[in-house]
Amino acid sequence: MQAMILERLSFFDRVKSPLKLVDIPIPKPRRDEILVKVSVCAVCHTELDEIEGRTPPPSFPVVPGHQAVGQVVETGPDVHDHSPGDRVGVAWIYSACGRCEHCIEGNENLCRQFKATGRDVNGGYAEYIVVRHDFAYAIPDVFTDQEAAPMLCAGAIGFRSLRLAGITDGNNLGLTGFGASGHLVLKMVQHQYPGTRVFVFARAEHERAFARGLGAVWAGDTEETPPETLHSVIDTTPAWRPMLEALNSLRPGGRLVVNAIRKEDHDKACLSELNYPQHLWMEKEIKSVANVTRADVREFLELAARIPLKPVIEEFALTDANTALCELKARKIRGAKVLQIGKKIRSGGLDTATGSAETSR
Ligand SMILES: [Zn+2]
Ligand SMILES: [Zn+2]
Repeated sequence: MQAMILERLSFFDRVKSPLKLVDIPIPKPRRDEILVKVSVCAVCHTELDEIEGRTPPPSFPVVPGHQAVGQVVETGPDVHDHSPGDRVGVAWIYSACGRCEHCIEGNENLCRQFKATGRDVNGGYAEYIVVRHDFAYAIPDVFTDQEAAPMLCAGAIGFRSLRLAGITDGNNLGLTGFGASGHLVLKMVQHQYPGTRVFVFARAEHERAFARGLGAVWAGDTEETPPETLHSVIDTTPAWRPMLEALNSLRPGGRLVVNAIRKEDHDKACLSELNYPQHLWMEKEIKSVANVTRADVREFLELAARIPLKPVIEEFALTDANTALCELKARKIRGAKVLQIGKKIRSGGLDTATGSAETSR
């Protein structure tokens, strides 16, 4: 089968094509696993963290990708909840121990033995993937494969972040960074908290225009001061400055939710500007978001199908995974990037004028 593999850590400023196209054997499902023929795999910022070593894979080579949608083609003998032909999705959580206190409390995302798809085991940048049957999700009919893929991480982790933000209807919510996850959170808020006003901080004017177009009441650069103070801010950026600025915009008792596995180090020095009375006093809180649980993915897919909430998509061929990742690194983002696997599309995406095809529904 065709797969894009990562053989070693590399940095995008030196290596533009860290993933290599290879032909490897189709994996065999074990007793409790299913073999899935991947149709689409969405691209996540976490792939950049894996490639550049901020959350490094424990061994190489590895196939990245943790937002895969496809069809079950084979099941192990112990599998009774999926059959060949079923459409399923695979998310970041590949497995957890199921026995520790975190797992028993329903916080399997915090399990010490948490394993991640596409980092600790091979993921979805390939024609086939094997996964444990109880870590695969039915995809609601309302979604196409392309629409469903970004829901599995960008959507599910956005759902978890929004819950951790703890807002009630009418509260002001800030989003700093406006990529795949941010734009889905904005749409979710409009449904769940119709009285909530969303304020977006983003570096690029095209991201701010995109946010306004989707209904943000205000969109400004990271250092700008929004016209109102905020009850909560969700940070999806790889940098530190946006955290500092978000703390500055919080009202007393407000909460900053940081949705990033790792932060990059280039602007870390700005933390020396942290001023306790300005940024933290008055019971402001900072909370990180770690991974997702299976319940997050299931509950989010149900909610998204009810709304229905659909992502804005940019489509790439599997062989153009490096291009998609380079664009993500350069923050050339409008919605969610997905790799179309097993279907021939022109190099650089469907639309040669823009290098990408966009579907907004
Ligand atoms: Zn992800
Ligand atoms: Zn556990």
